Amino acid sequence: MTEPLLKVEQLRKSFGAHDVLRGIDLAVKRGDVTCIVGPSGSGKSTLLRCLNHLETPTKGVVFLNGVPVGVRWKGNRLYQMSFNELARQRQRMGMVFQAFNLFPHKTVLENVTEAPILVRRIKRKAAEVEAMDLLERVGMAERANYYPPQLSGGQQQRAAIARSLAMKPDLMLFDEPTSALDPELVGEVLAVMRQLADDGMTMVVVTHEMGFARDVADHLVFMDGGVIIEEGAPADLLTHPHHERTKAFLSRVL
Ligand code: ADP
Ligand code: MG
Repeated sequence: MTEPLLKVEQLRKSFGAHDVLRGIDLAVKRGDVTCIVGPSGSGKSTLLRCLNHLETPTKGVVFLNGVPVGVRWKGNRLYQMSFNELARQRQRMGMVFQAFNLFPHKTVLENVTEAPILVRRIKRKAAEVEAMDLLERVGMAERANYYPPQLSGGQQQRAAIARSLAMKPDLMLFDEPTSALDPELVGEVLAVMRQLADDGMTMVVVTHEMGFARDVADHLVFMDGGVIIEEGAPADLLTHPHHERTKAFLSRVL
C-alpha cells in the first residue's frame, strides 16, 4: 500500500485543563476527499489547525508525505523546527477558513499573486498569468481587478480558494468554507470545491453540507468530544451509522 499523503497518530491537543483532541488517528490518501462532520465544539477546527501547525499539538505527530510536520528528529528526540522551516511545510497545505481571508486593500489579482511573488519568488508577469488561470478555474477572472469588499461572500471565498491554490499545495484544508455565506451563495463555492476534487486535489473538508459530503467525499469522519467516533465510506456511514452519537447527529442534520 502506498503511504498516505497525510497521517496523524494519536494526536492530542489540550488548552489548559481542557482536552480538546483526545487521540486522533487519521490517514488521508493522495487524491482523496475526506469530510469531517460533527457537532459544534467537537474539535474539528482544532484538528484542522493542528494538521498545519497553526496550533501546536500537545502530543502526537502529523506526517505529510511521511515527513513529520513542525518537528524534527535529533537522535531519538523530537524538537520544534524553526519558524522558517515550518513556514515552508505549511505552504504545502492550503487552508480556507469560514471567514474570508483576503486582504481587503488588495485586488483579487494582487491577493492571488502576492504569495507566489514573495514566497515562490516568481516574476510578477508569470504570477499574473498563473493567477488568471486559477481565477478562471474558480469563475472569478472577470473580477480580477475588484477589491474584496466589492464582492459577494461567495465570490470572496472562491477568490480565497484561488489564492490558496496559487502556492501549489499538496493538499487543501477547508474549515466550514460555506457556513458564513448567505444560502444562495453556498452552491457556487461547493461547485468550485467539487471541481477541485474532480481535478484530483487532496482535500480535508470540515463541513455541515451533508449533500456535499455524501456526493464528493471518499472518506467521511464523524467526530464528537475530541475523538473520531466512526469513519468510513459516506454511503455506509450516512445510511448505516453504528454509534448512537452518530445516529443522533445525523438525525439532526439530514
Ligand atoms: P469545532 O470546530 O468542532 O466546533 P473547535 O475545535 O473550534 O470545535 O473547539 C473545540 C473546543 O476547544 C471548544 O470547547 C473550544 O472552546 C475549545 N477551544 C478551541 N480553541 C481554543 C483556544 N485557542 N483556547 C481555548 N479553548 C479552545
Ligand atoms: Mg469549527
